Amino acid sequence: MQPMDPLDTPDPLDRTQARAWLATAVAEARAGLAEGGIPIGAALYGADGALLGRGHNRRVQDDDPSMHAETAAFRAAGRQRTYRGTTMVTTLSPCWYCSGLVRQFGISRVVIGEAATFHGGHDWLAEHGVRIVLLDDEECTALMRDFINDNPALWNEDIGE
Ligand SMILES: [Zn+2]
Repeated sequence: MQPMDPLDTPDPLDRTQARAWLATAVAEARAGLAEGGIPIGAALYGADGALLGRGHNRRVQDDDPSMHAETAAFRAAGRQRTYRGTTMVTTLSPCWYCSGLVRQFGISRVVIGEAATFHGGHDWLAEHGVRIVLLDDEECTALMRDFINDNPALWNEDIGE
């Protein structure tokens, strides 16, 4: 069960561990960028720390606006008996759609590279007992800032504006 107030209790996740996981998501984001896509990457880790799935935003590559990084990682992980204790790691604050996925399947924790270039649904997730670890990672922020500067129209299309 979730504690009464998850915002006031420390997350036992070690920051070094969180950053090591984030590196997987960053590698995915860079792979997406190399393919001409939007540089957002994600990975789903099991309660035991095992990598279950990884992926990146494929809106451009697949001509599929629903293929977000978190969704790609989630689908790559296949069916899991339970999502309790799992961690979704993403380079960017998750949009409403991916935040909904986190809640729908009961993913316990979200590690976020940055929320400076886009503030998604992570406050809402925290309010509903999902553990949020926001790393304020410079590399993730630079990746998105550069991409948005170079491709404003594509980015606005991705966030539905
Ligand atoms: Zn999304």
